[in-house]
Amino acid sequence: MDNADWLNRTRASVWHPCTQMKHLEQTPPLPVARGEGPWLIDHDGRRYLDAISSWWVNLFGHANPRINAAIVDQLGRIAHVMLAGCTHAPVVELSERLARLSGLSHAFYASDGASATEIALKMSFHFWRNRGRPHKTGFVSLQNGYHGETLGALSVTDVALFKDTYAPLLRQSHQVISPDWRLADEGESAETYAWRAIAQMEDFLAECADTTAAVIVEPLVQGAAGMAMYHPIYLTRLRELCDKHEVHLIADEIAVGFGRTGTLFACEQAGIRPDFLCLSKGITGGYLPLSCVLTRDDIYAAFYADSSARGFLHSHSYTGNPLACRAALAVLDIFEADHVLVRNRSKAARFSELLAPIAAHPCVSHFRNTGMIWAFDVKHAAPGFSARFHQQALAQGLFIRPIGNTVYFMPPYVIEEAEMRLMADVTLNLLQTL
Ligand SMILES: *Cc1c(COP(=O)(O)O)cnc(C)c1O
Repeated sequence: MDNADWLNRTRASVWHPCTQMKHLEQTPPLPVARGEGPWLIDHDGRRYLDAISSWWVNLFGHANPRINAAIVDQLGRIAHVMLAGCTHAPVVELSERLARLSGLSHAFYASDGASATEIALKMSFHFWRNRGRPHKTGFVSLQNGYHGETLGALSVTDVALFKDTYAPLLRQSHQVISPDWRLADEGESAETYAWRAIAQMEDFLAECADTTAAVIVEPLVQGAAGMAMYHPIYLTRLRELCDKHEVHLIADEIAVGFGRTGTLFACEQAGIRPDFLCLSKGITGGYLPLSCVLTRDDIYAAFYADSSARGFLHSHSYTGNPLACRAALAVLDIFEADHVLVRNRSKAARFSELLAPIAAHPCVSHFRNTGMIWAFDVKHAAPGFSARFHQQALAQGLFIRPIGNTVYFMPPYVIEEAEMRLMADVTLNLLQTL
C-alpha cells in the first residue's frame, strides 16, 4: 500500500476531525506510516518534522523507547479495568504524583480534554449546590478562549467557527475581554494591558458573583485563539478576585500543562493555585487519550457524604485507563530523570536565536514566545494562507499548520539543533516567497 491507496481509502471511509471533507481534494491528509522522535514518516519513506507535536500532545517524540516500554509492561498485566468498584496501581501512583506536583490532592479522570472541561464545570456547580448555593450556575470565560467542543465545553468556548452553528444547542455563558497582548494599544506593555483587561472581569464578578460558579481560563497562552500570550499578572489578580467574590477558578492547562510554558504548570508563573486544574494532551506524552481534573481537599469534602446524590456521579467507560496512566507515569519519570524543564530553557533560548531573522522580517508582526511555544502573525496574508503555507512547508519536509494568519511552532521537547534550523530555514524561505 502506498500513499495514494491510503488517501483514497481514508476519503471514502474516515470522517476527519476539524475538516471540511471537500477540502481534502486540494489538501489531502498526510498518510503517516510511522514516527521516530520528532519525525513523521509516510508510506513512501519521506520524512516530515512534526513542528506542532501532533496537535500539541507529543512531548518526547514518537516511538519513545521509555514510554513504549512502560506501556508494553502494563499490557502484560492488564490493559483496562473499570475504575468504579476497582482500583489499580497506575492510577493511584499517578494521582499521588500529580497531587505532589500541583498541590491539588484529588484527581478525577476522563479520556479527553473536552471531558475534563465538562467535569470541572459540573463539579464547580455541584460544589455550590452541595454548599447550599444552588443559584451559582453561571460561567465566565475569556474572549477567543477554547475549552473543547462537546456541548458544555463549547458553551464556554469563544471561537465563532466552532461555535456559531451550534448556538441553539448551547448554554449561555459570559465572555470578558482577553488579556492577549496583541490587543494592547501601541506602546502599552503586556502588564499594563493585563491590568486593563482584568478590570472588565472585576466589574463582571462584582455584579454577577452570586449567580456565577466559576471562571475558566487558559493560563498564559490561549492556544486555539492563535497562541495569544499574556502577562501572568492577569492570573495573579484573577486569583484574588475569585477569592474575594467566592467564584471558582478553573485553569484549563490542557494545552499549556506539562512544561509547554516553561514551568510544569503555567499557573506557577503567576504564583497561584487554581481550584480546578484540567490536564490532558501532553499528560501521556501524546500516546493515549487521558485527561484529569485535579482539585482541593475542601472541594472534595463538599461531596463526601452518606447520600449518593451529593457525590460526583459522573463517569466515562475508560476513566483512569491503566495503559494511559502508565504512559503518564513514564512521562513524569522522563521529566525528572532528564531535567527536562532546565534543558528546555536552553533549547528555547537557542531556537529563539535562530528565529531572530523571522522576528525581524517585514511581513511579520507580534513575534512572541512563551516557554516551548513560538508564534507570529503574517501581515496582509491572502485568503487561504494557512492551507497554502501548510502545503508548501510539507513539500520541504516540515509539518506545520498555521491558525489563520498565525504561524506557530510547538515542537516536541526532543528537538535538537538540526531540527530547529530546519524549522527556522523553511519558514524564513516561505516568508520570502509570500
Ligand atoms: C485541546 C484543548 C481542549 C480540548 O481537548 P480535546 O482532547 O481535544 O477534547 C480543551 N482546552 C484547551 C485549552 C485545549 O487546547
